[in-house]
Amino acid sequence: MNIVLIGPPGAGKGTQADYLVNEFNLFKVSAGDLLRKETELKTPLGQKIKSILDQGSLVSDEIIGNLIEKLILNKSYSNQIIFDGYPRNLNQAKSLDSLMKKHNQHITKVLSINVNNDIVVKRILGRQICSKCFLTFNEFFNPATDKNHKCNSIFLKKRSDDKEETVINRLKTYSSVTKPILNYYENQKLLTNIDGMNKIDQINKEIRQIIHSLNT
Ligand code: AMP
Repeated sequence: MNIVLIGPPGAGKGTQADYLVNEFNLFKVSAGDLLRKETELKTPLGQKIKSILDQGSLVSDEIIGNLIEKLILNKSYSNQIIFDGYPRNLNQAKSLDSLMKKHNQHITKVLSINVNNDIVVKRILGRQICSKCFLTFNEFFNPATDKNHKCNSIFLKKRSDDKEETVINRLKTYSSVTKPILNYYENQKLLTNIDGMNKIDQINKEIRQIIHSLNT
């Protein structure tokens, strides 16, 4: 099965994807992580991507499409992908359909995680990511503890685009270009809405039940 997670920044897509990776033996393909890795290479392309990320805009469909295709081509990921943050506009949704078809795969389910804008800002400002194990935590809602995080706390970092001014732009981008793809998936009868305002465990339970009920 291949699952797509859609939601505004701070909806908890990455957190839920991390749980599902373990529970269903899936591979997480996070568009944001792929782009952040490129920025670390400090190449001209990486620098261009960083400035776009820091503005809260979307990088070109071509740049992200090429990174995604490389992973879809990887046979060991075949029919075991959870997409986090891709697709993010209608053109990307159509490209993903074509790529899946080309490689004899299809999208099994699209989950849209919904949250209010005011909670999104607080979630994003509290977000911490471990630079060693890449797990995501939140200072306010889901702090790293000895139980849920094995690495030293010095590895916990903030993302450079998790700033109030950038969040506003990311939310606008979500409403204007990402939200319209929900209709596209609704028409294909692939879409299920999830209440992202619930507690992390509760959301995970709901998603697990949906995935268990899929006939794959
Ligand atoms: P995320 O880690 O999903 O919050 O994404 C961080 C940033 O990466 C976004 O604000 C965009 O600038 C960029 N990005 C992530 N996914 C995409 C995508 N599918 N298309 C274009 N840009 C993206």
